[in-house]
Amino acid sequence: MGDEGESDASVPGRRNIPVQRNGFNAQEAAFDQGIRVESAVVFDFVSYWSVVDRAIVIQADLSGHVRNEVIAHAVAHIEMADSLELAAALDGDRWRGRVEMQVHEVVAHRLIPIADLRDALEVANDLPTVAALLGVTEFLLGWRLQNLANEEFAAIPPHLLDRLGWLPGMPSEYPYRCLWPTSSSGDVLRQLAPGRHHR
Ligand SMILES: [Zn+2]
Repeated sequence: MGDEGESDASVPGRRNIPVQRNGFNAQEAAFDQGIRVESAVVFDFVSYWSVVDRAIVIQADLSGHVRNEVIAHAVAHIEMADSLELAAALDGDRWRGRVEMQVHEVVAHRLIPIADLRDALEVANDLPTVAALLGVTEFLLGWRLQNLANEEFAAIPPHLLDRLGWLPGMPSEYPYRCLWPTSSSGDVLRQLAPGRHHR
């Protein structure tokens, strides 16, 4: 966990813990894989990814931890370039929601290692604060919690989970309106972020 906070965690009535920097640097992960990340002022989606172009366009005004998570989400999509599930979903032969679930699973594990989760649960006893300590959205934390593996539960004393007062299915804002590519995706990408593109 890092030291730089963001002010958007300062919701009245909550413990005023600034959002920490998450240990997974998604921008760096993208760079290492040759995936280009562009920001654009868009209103109808948060992120757009293109497997063909190995490029991501994200909304320009996301706060740091949301930006990190959204990039991590899109990177996970692009890593599925060779997956039959993604191909089937792109062809309409498979529910896209299934692919989204796979992506959430990958991102939740990368951004929330079990040891970090336990540490944060020791310190704080409500979902927003635990999320802030981990440097993730409440959505991602909720996803991680409701998909903990049996062997992971052994690492976390139950009372730390019980005292959160949170249960699977309780709503938290969904922060990734990710736009799936279509046949005209390349054009969208060029319009949104003109620059160095394949094809
Ligand atoms: Zn997605």
